[in-house]
Amino acid sequence: MSSYFSEHDCSGGEVPNHFLDFARLIATGGYWEQVGLQYNDLFGHKPPPPTSRAVIADLETITIDEAGTSQQCPVCLKQYELSEKCHQLPCKHLFHITCVLPWLNKTNSCPMCRHELKTDDEAYEEYKLRKKNEAERKAQLETLHDSMFS
Ligand SMILES: [Zn+2]
Ligand SMILES: [Zn+2]
Repeated sequence: MSSYFSEHDCSGGEVPNHFLDFARLIATGGYWEQVGLQYNDLFGHKPPPPTSRAVIADLETITIDEAGTSQQCPVCLKQYELSEKCHQLPCKHLFHITCVLPWLNKTNSCPMCRHELKTDDEAYEEYKLRKKNEAERKAQLETLHDSMFS
Protein backbone atom coordinates (compact mmCIF):
# COMPACT_ATOMS: atom_id res chain seq x y z
CA MET A 1 0.00 0.00 0.00
CA SER A 2 1.36 3.38 -0.90
CA SER A 3 0.66 6.63 0.84
CA TYR A 4 1.75 10.23 0.45
CA PHE A 5 4.55 9.68 2.92
CA SER A 6 6.00 6.50 1.44
CA GLU A 7 5.87 7.98 -2.06
CA HIS A 8 7.67 11.07 -0.92
CA ASP A 9 10.16 9.13 1.15
CA CYS A 10 9.38 10.68 4.51
CA SER A 11 10.70 7.83 6.57
CA GLY A 12 9.37 7.29 10.05
CA GLY A 13 5.99 8.73 9.14
CA GLU A 14 6.84 12.09 10.61
CA VAL A 15 4.86 15.00 9.30
CA PRO A 16 7.27 17.71 8.19
CA ASN A 17 6.90 21.01 9.97
CA HIS A 18 6.25 23.05 6.88
CA PHE A 19 3.28 20.83 6.14
CA LEU A 20 1.72 21.90 9.42
CA ASP A 21 2.52 25.53 8.64
CA PHE A 22 0.82 25.12 5.30
CA ALA A 23 -2.28 23.60 6.89
CA ARG A 24 -2.37 26.34 9.48
CA LEU A 25 -2.20 29.04 6.81
CA ILE A 26 -5.02 27.45 4.86
CA ALA A 27 -7.09 27.13 8.04
CA THR A 28 -6.76 30.85 8.79
CA GLY A 29 -6.98 31.79 5.11
CA GLY A 30 -10.76 31.81 4.82
CA TYR A 31 -11.05 34.57 7.34
CA TRP A 32 -8.64 36.87 5.56
CA GLU A 33 -10.16 36.23 2.18
CA GLN A 34 -13.54 37.21 3.54
CA VAL A 35 -12.15 40.40 5.00
CA GLY A 36 -10.33 41.15 1.77
CA LEU A 37 -13.53 40.69 -0.17
CA GLN A 38 -15.43 43.10 2.03
CA TYR A 39 -12.74 45.72 1.66
CA ASN A 40 -12.56 45.23 -2.08
CA ASP A 41 -16.31 45.73 -2.23
CA LEU A 42 -15.96 48.95 -0.30
CA PHE A 43 -12.92 50.39 -2.04
CA GLY A 44 -12.05 48.25 -5.05
CA HIS A 45 -13.90 50.39 -7.55
CA LYS A 46 -13.49 53.75 -5.89
CA PRO A 47 -10.65 56.09 -6.80
CA PRO A 48 -8.11 56.38 -3.99
CA PRO A 49 -8.56 59.30 -1.58
CA PRO A 50 -6.31 62.39 -1.67
CA THR A 51 -2.86 62.47 -0.14
CA SER A 52 -2.70 63.27 3.55
CA ARG A 53 -2.44 67.00 4.27
CA ALA A 54 0.44 66.32 6.65
CA VAL A 55 2.32 64.44 3.93
CA ILE A 56 1.77 67.27 1.45
CA ALA A 57 2.93 69.84 4.01
CA ASP A 58 6.04 67.75 4.63
CA LEU A 59 7.05 67.25 0.99
CA GLU A 60 10.62 68.10 0.20
CA THR A 61 10.95 71.42 -1.59
CA ILE A 62 13.78 71.75 -4.06
CA THR A 63 15.04 74.94 -5.64
CA ILE A 64 16.14 74.25 -9.19
CA ASP A 65 19.86 74.75 -9.70
CA GLU A 66 21.89 74.90 -12.91
CA ALA A 67 21.79 71.08 -13.34
CA GLY A 68 18.04 71.00 -12.74
CA THR A 69 17.32 73.20 -15.73
CA SER A 70 18.13 70.33 -18.07
CA GLN A 71 15.12 68.39 -16.74
CA GLN A 72 11.46 68.90 -17.40
CA CYS A 73 8.35 68.66 -15.26
CA PRO A 74 6.50 65.42 -16.17
CA VAL A 75 3.12 67.12 -15.68
CA CYS A 76 3.39 70.28 -17.82
CA LEU A 77 6.41 69.09 -19.85
CA LYS A 78 8.13 72.48 -19.46
CA GLN A 79 11.81 72.63 -18.62
CA TYR A 80 12.61 73.78 -15.11
CA GLU A 81 13.92 77.29 -14.79
CA LEU A 82 16.70 78.38 -12.52
CA SER A 83 15.56 78.91 -8.88
CA GLU A 84 12.04 77.60 -9.56
CA LYS A 85 10.51 75.76 -6.58
CA CYS A 86 9.65 72.12 -7.00
CA HIS A 87 8.43 69.27 -4.84
CA GLN A 88 10.31 66.00 -4.71
CA LEU A 89 8.14 63.04 -3.78
CA PRO A 90 9.53 60.19 -1.64
CA CYS A 91 10.04 58.20 -4.85
CA LYS A 92 12.45 60.98 -5.94
CA HIS A 93 10.29 62.23 -8.79
CA LEU A 94 10.37 65.99 -9.17
CA PHE A 95 7.45 68.24 -10.14
CA HIS A 96 6.56 71.93 -10.13
CA ILE A 97 4.77 72.63 -6.89
CA THR A 98 1.87 74.16 -8.82
CA CYS A 99 1.69 71.08 -11.05
CA VAL A 100 1.81 68.36 -8.41
CA LEU A 101 -0.41 69.89 -5.72
CA PRO A 102 -3.71 69.70 -7.64
CA TRP A 103 -2.86 66.06 -8.40
CA LEU A 104 -2.06 65.14 -4.79
CA ASN A 105 -5.21 66.90 -3.61
CA LYS A 106 -7.15 64.47 -5.76
CA THR A 107 -5.28 61.20 -5.35
CA ASN A 108 -2.52 59.59 -3.33
CA SER A 109 0.09 58.37 -5.77
CA CYS A 110 2.97 59.76 -7.79
CA PRO A 111 1.82 60.66 -11.34
CA MET A 112 4.95 59.00 -12.72
CA CYS A 113 5.40 55.72 -10.87
CA ARG A 114 2.20 55.32 -8.80
CA HIS A 115 4.23 55.27 -5.59
CA GLU A 116 1.52 55.51 -2.92
CA LEU A 117 1.49 58.20 -0.28
CA LYS A 118 -0.34 58.13 3.00
CA THR A 119 -3.90 59.47 3.08
CA ASP A 120 -6.07 60.95 5.85
CA ASP A 121 -8.72 58.33 5.15
CA GLU A 122 -8.57 55.84 8.01
CA ALA A 123 -10.75 53.26 6.30
CA TYR A 124 -8.59 53.40 3.18
CA GLU A 125 -5.39 53.02 5.22
CA GLU A 126 -6.94 49.98 6.90
CA TYR A 127 -7.81 48.59 3.48
CA LYS A 128 -4.22 49.07 2.27
CA LEU A 129 -2.93 47.26 5.37
CA ARG A 130 -5.29 44.35 4.80
CA LYS A 131 -4.22 44.11 1.18
CA LYS A 132 -0.56 44.11 2.21
CA ASN A 133 -1.17 41.37 4.79
CA GLU A 134 -3.03 39.34 2.22
CA ALA A 135 -0.18 39.69 -0.29
CA GLU A 136 2.33 38.63 2.34
CA ARG A 137 0.26 35.61 3.25
CA LYS A 138 0.03 34.64 -0.41
CA ALA A 139 3.80 34.92 -0.83
CA GLN A 140 4.27 32.82 2.30
CA LEU A 141 1.89 30.19 0.94
CA GLU A 142 3.75 30.08 -2.36
CA THR A 143 7.10 29.63 -0.64
CA LEU A 144 5.72 26.81 1.47
CA HIS A 145 4.03 25.26 -1.52
CA ASP A 146 7.32 25.32 -3.44
CA SER A 147 9.23 23.78 -0.58
CA MET A 148 6.67 20.98 -0.37
CA PHE A 149 6.07 20.12 -3.97
CA SER A 150 9.26 20.91 -5.82
ZN1 LIG B 1 5.07 71.55 -14.26
ZN1 LIG C 1 7.38 58.63 -8.53
